[in-house]
Amino acid sequence: MTPGGVNSPVRAFNAVGGTPRFITSADGAWLTDADGNRYVDLICSWGPMLLGHNHPEVRAAVTEAVSRGTSYGTPTVPEVELAEELVARTSVERVRFVSSGTEATMSAIRLARGFTGRDMVVKFAGCYHGHVDALLVSAGSGLVTLGVPGTPGVPESATALTLVLPYNDRAAVTAAFAEHGDRIACLVTEAAPGNMGVVPPEPGFNGFLAETCRAHGALFLSDEVMTGFRASRQGQWGLDGAVEGWTPDLVTFGKVMGGGFPAAAFGGRADVMAHLAPEGGVYQAGTLSGNPIATTAGLTTLRLATPEVYDHLNRAGDVVKQAVGEALTAAGVPHVVQSAGTMFSVFFGCDPVRDFAGANRQHLPAYAAFFHAMLDAGVHLPPSAFEAWFLSAAHDDQALQAVVDALPAAATAAAQTLDTHS
Ligand code: PLP
Repeated sequence: MTPGGVNSPVRAFNAVGGTPRFITSADGAWLTDADGNRYVDLICSWGPMLLGHNHPEVRAAVTEAVSRGTSYGTPTVPEVELAEELVARTSVERVRFVSSGTEATMSAIRLARGFTGRDMVVKFAGCYHGHVDALLVSAGSGLVTLGVPGTPGVPESATALTLVLPYNDRAAVTAAFAEHGDRIACLVTEAAPGNMGVVPPEPGFNGFLAETCRAHGALFLSDEVMTGFRASRQGQWGLDGAVEGWTPDLVTFGKVMGGGFPAAAFGGRADVMAHLAPEGGVYQAGTLSGNPIATTAGLTTLRLATPEVYDHLNRAGDVVKQAVGEALTAAGVPHVVQSAGTMFSVFFGCDPVRDFAGANRQHLPAYAAFFHAMLDAGVHLPPSAFEAWFLSAAHDDQALQAVVDALPAAATAAAQTLDTHS
């Protein structure tokens, strides 16, 4: 009935083989499937579930909101409060809500083009910004997993104005701006890439991008859909821009700020955002944008996302990272663990990864074997080597111990695959 049996390609098991589990309920750090099996969840809905599943206070707030109706198509209080929360935590001065990260980056790029009167966009290979036509060139996430270099259905004209550069490569950025600087509307980057596995920006790289854009009159669009309120309390920007003293011109958010509901946003400099309809001429709209249930879930989640939550995520991440490292080393599997704030992932059988070419040097069969051994032991990792592993505030000692206990056998399974493929 549904193409590939899934409603988003990353959910399929194409990259690792086998059949996806059908999940019927989730609580805290745990998923339960239709056959009654339980798994420690290291996907967390691909990022949003920062507090864990079925958090009692989020559930109560959502239930109360639903009791007052589900969508009005008029301004509401929770969307104003959520906007205030985003502005308080990040660099953005003004914000517009949408329903998905894809919509957020698509709208931000239109705004950048409308504001600058320019048409070119710069992106990095391996960065994924949603299934926006202009950005489906060398994207990460599902496209990498499925080995699709772009996609049929996107006309060449849609990507002809998109320049794709290697990540973490200052010389490539400088050269691109030297040649096309006066035509570039914006440079878009994942604030810290998580869609080719976690590949952190090298120290100062985001600041360099912001400065290069400023020098050429282009806008710097930082995509924090994944990193926002996840990498740190202030997203990736809290780890670099806030410390180094620069701000992006535009930022996109999603995932955590929706608290498990379809909510996303783009925001940025007040003078740029003023170009958006109805204040300015750049058109953008949405029937369910700022939906009261979604914004209530997001607002409640962010209010509960205290510094203690991020301390816990860091500690839990350290436990898993250390145990994975020890198990893989003991089994003789070469690997690298890479982090951006509280986000991390593990690359099998390759050197440290600084760009998409490096991510593609992973030993994919080793990950597939590791994934299935973990799943058999009751730990649900992302079914792709090109994804971040997500934890939550609900990953307590019991859940972490279940992960740690599953690792030695999974590492052995990965090692055997290395033997047979080398
Ligand atoms: N930008 C980034 C960095 C993402 O990771 C994603 C989704 O994974 C998107 C944009 C697209 O968001 P959505 O899936 O909500 O459309």
